[in-house]
Amino acid sequence: MDLKSHIRGIPDFPKPGILFYDISPLLAHPQAWRHAVETMAASVKEWQPDILVGIESRGFLAAAPLAYVLDCGFVMCRKRGKLPGETIGHLYELEYGSDAIEIQADAIKPGQRVVVVDDLLATGGTMAAAIQLLRRVGADVRGAACFIELTFLGGRDKIDAPVTSLMQYD
Ligand code: AMP
Repeated sequence: MDLKSHIRGIPDFPKPGILFYDISPLLAHPQAWRHAVETMAASVKEWQPDILVGIESRGFLAAAPLAYVLDCGFVMCRKRGKLPGETIGHLYELEYGSDAIEIQADAIKPGQRVVVVDDLLATGGTMAAAIQLLRRVGADVRGAACFIELTFLGGRDKIDAPVTSLMQYD
């Protein structure tokens, strides 16, 4: 199945010069979405995860059905201030300024096998930050999975774990 035909490129969003890869048509097409989830599940299964961690917010859309299919737990990695209760945060640098992500303090038990999931890997900064945070709480990070990889940005080189992606753009 040609999954790329369900991805829409929107120029100059959210700011001039950025081509935004919109997964909405993929989500809206049941057969294509099922195919994408099942193909990704087959790759992620190899890493035998206990938990899938989805990165806010489109990472949730990818990680939740994958976790369901693979019979794993699902944990949210969110922007600062969104999760209730005790949280553990991680500050990371962006092109301009910095940002922070968090997980709930009791979300991962030390030694649990974890795969991090996002919709898209661009520079790799977000995924690398999530992996650092998860390692700090003792997770055994088995890999990183995304539907779309912008290979021309070389994000994979920043990820200190195996990476799998369904669609590559170069
Ligand atoms: P990065 O940290 O540069 O790898 O950026 C990855 C995060 O930003 C992911 O959560 C993506 O959803 C989002 N993102 C970055 N670039 C794009 C893009 N061109 N189209 C859609 N989402 C993007």
